[in-house]
Amino acid sequence: MVRRTAVVTGAARGIGRAIAHRLAADGLAVLVSDIDADGAQSVAAEIRDKGFTATSAGCDVRDRDAVFGLVEASRAAHGDLDVMVANAGVVQVKRLLETRPEDLEHIFRVNVDGVLWCVQAAAEAMIAHGRGGRIINAASIAAHSGADYLGAYCATKFAVRALTQTAAKELAGHGITVNAYCPGIVGTEMWDQIDTSLGSYLGTAAGGALAEYSKLIALGRVQTPEDVAGLVSYMAGPDGGYMTGQSVIVDGGIEMV
Ligand code: NAD
Repeated sequence: MVRRTAVVTGAARGIGRAIAHRLAADGLAVLVSDIDADGAQSVAAEIRDKGFTATSAGCDVRDRDAVFGLVEASRAAHGDLDVMVANAGVVQVKRLLETRPEDLEHIFRVNVDGVLWCVQAAAEAMIAHGRGGRIINAASIAAHSGADYLGAYCATKFAVRALTQTAAKELAGHGITVNAYCPGIVGTEMWDQIDTSLGSYLGTAAGGALAEYSKLIALGRVQTPEDVAGLVSYMAGPDGGYMTGQSVIVDGGIEMV
């Protein structure tokens, strides 16, 4: 049987790293990618040390040509692409009234343009090989509900939901599904950054904002990257083939829709 293949962006740490580990454990050959090429290389080595298949490549998802090059590198290393996980993202903690053009420019280029280039590059490869595929995008509970101090971030994640729905409709005829995962409060460096920045607005010490916001989690604990990777494994795997256009919340019960 041909080994299925995946590309995961933003996979040098955090949620992307956990997704890369999980898909490799599921039997896929994984190209671990990140703007931090050294970090991506380390994660690929960790995966190989477990006996699974992984390579790595540096890629800034803001660069459309680089993303198309990434998909080609995956084909050269592992064969035709089956799964694209557009995970790379950045956060910004700022009041809406303080948000300036350069703030929007940066966060939209990574979180929205970057996802669209991944969708385009993956779709082109999947249409060319003709056996369909799965495209899986990073959204957030911030894609379902506005949040104070996170206005620009929420806007980018609402946009990811829109891209996910449209791509799902445009690509269904090619056997390509497109979905998004929507985590809540995951204990990664991104939340360290949110905690510090929110702290300067709220006057809380280190860990204070995280502790306060964590009270919203019905299941009573901060989410792990592996909690997210489990959903992505389903979306990429044999049981996930009939789901498309969905932005699925996995957040321990913060948002209930
Ligand atoms: P993180 O900051 O810990 O890791 C993000 C990774 O993306 C880093 O390795 C970083 O180098 C990489 N990256 C940043 N800009 C890039 C670019 N231009 N090109 C390629 N790679 C780039 O974040 P995380 O918590 O692991 O989040 C991963 C994804 O999940 C993001 O899209 C984020 O918005 C989303 N998300 C996170 C949370 C959370 O609570 N942490 C919640 C909901 C959604």
